[in-house]
Amino acid sequence: MSRVYNFSAGPAVLPESVLRECADEMLDYRGCGMSVMEMSHRSKMFQQIIDEAEADLRTLMGIPDNYRVLFLQGGAHQQFSAIPLNLSKLPGAHGKADYIVTGMWAKKALAEAKRFIDAEAIASSADETFSYIPDCSDLPVREDADYVYICENNTIYGTVYHELPNTKGKVLVSDVSSMFLSQPHDVAKYGVIYGGVQKNVGPAGIAITVVREDLIPEGDLADVPIMMQWRPQADAGSLYNTPNCWAIYVCGKVFKWLLAQGGLEEVKARNVAKAKLLYDFLDESALFKGTVRPQDRSLMNVPFVTGDPDLDAEFVKGSQAAGLENLKGHRSVGGMRASIYNAMPVEGVEALVAFMKDFEAKH
Ligand SMILES: *Cc1c(COP(=O)(O)O)cnc(C)c1O
Repeated sequence: MSRVYNFSAGPAVLPESVLRECADEMLDYRGCGMSVMEMSHRSKMFQQIIDEAEADLRTLMGIPDNYRVLFLQGGAHQQFSAIPLNLSKLPGAHGKADYIVTGMWAKKALAEAKRFIDAEAIASSADETFSYIPDCSDLPVREDADYVYICENNTIYGTVYHELPNTKGKVLVSDVSSMFLSQPHDVAKYGVIYGGVQKNVGPAGIAITVVREDLIPEGDLADVPIMMQWRPQADAGSLYNTPNCWAIYVCGKVFKWLLAQGGLEEVKARNVAKAKLLYDFLDESALFKGTVRPQDRSLMNVPFVTGDPDLDAEFVKGSQAAGLENLKGHRSVGGMRASIYNAMPVEGVEALVAFMKDFEAKH
C-alpha cells in the first residue's frame, strides 16, 4: 500500500489513524457484530456515537449552552437555502439580509437567498478576482437586515477573514466549511456558524450547523419544506429522519483526534507552521507567485501560479508523478492550489516545497 500526499480542496485528506480505526471497526463495531453503516440510527449504539460526537465538538469549539449543534444532510448548499428560510421566519424578521461576496461560495449563497428574501451584496472583492477581503469596518448594513452573511475562508481563492466584519449589531452568519476546526472561533460572536464537513473534518455527506437557540424558529413553518427547517432537527437531536450515520461516526473520530492534539489552539499553531513553509517559499521564489493579498492569506487553501499556463500544466503533471496529488487550481483562478487541511502532515508540505524548488531550479 502506498498513500499519496493529497492536496485536494474537498473531499480531502483524512487523518490516517482515523482511517485505520474505521477499518478496524468496519466489520464488527465494538462487539456488536455489525458495522456502523448497518446499525439502526435509533439504536443505543448509534445514540452513543452521535452524543459523544456532539459533546466532543462542544468541547473543541467551546460552544456555549444556548447554541444547538445540528448534523444535517444536503451539504453546505442546503444551508444556503435553510439560512434565509429559517431566519426570515423569526418573530420581527423583515425578510432582508446583507451578504459580503468574497468568492464563488458567497455568491452562490446570495443567489440562493434571493429566491426567498430581499438579499443584497453590501461588499464584494469580485473586481480583483476575489484575491482580497474587503474592508468590513463600516459597511452599509441595512437598518432592517435580519443578518449579515460571510464565507469566512474562501476555498477557491485562498483568502480568509482575519477580523470579523462589523455587522452593526446584526446577527452574523458564517460559512466556515474550509476552515472548520482549523483554529478556534469565538462562537458567541456568531448567530450561525456552519459548514460542510468534507473539507477539513470528515467524509462528504453532512453539514454541521451551530446555531443560537433563539434563531431557530418555533413550530412548523407551513411554507418551508420540512427538511429545510432547523426546528424539527433540533427537537429530534439531528435524528428527525435517517441521518448520515457513517459521516457522523467518522467526524466523531476526527474530533477525538483533534482533542488528543491539545485542542484548536494547538491545531492552529501547527497549521500556521505548515502554511508558513509554503508562503515563505512563495515570497522568495522567482518562478512561483501567490495570488492573494498577503494580509488576507488563508491557512488552509494556498493558490499559486507561475504566470505561464503551459508551465503550470507541466508542474501539475510532474507533481502528480511525484506523489503530490490534486494540485491543479480551480478553473476560475487557474494555476495551482494546495489545500493543506488539518490532516495534511507537515511532511506533505515539505515534500511540496522541495518539489517546487527542484522545479524552479530546472526552469
Ligand atoms: C465546498 C464548499 C461549499 C459547498 O459545499 P457542499 O457541501 O458541496 O454543498 C460551500 N462553502 C464553502 C466555503 C466550500 O468550501
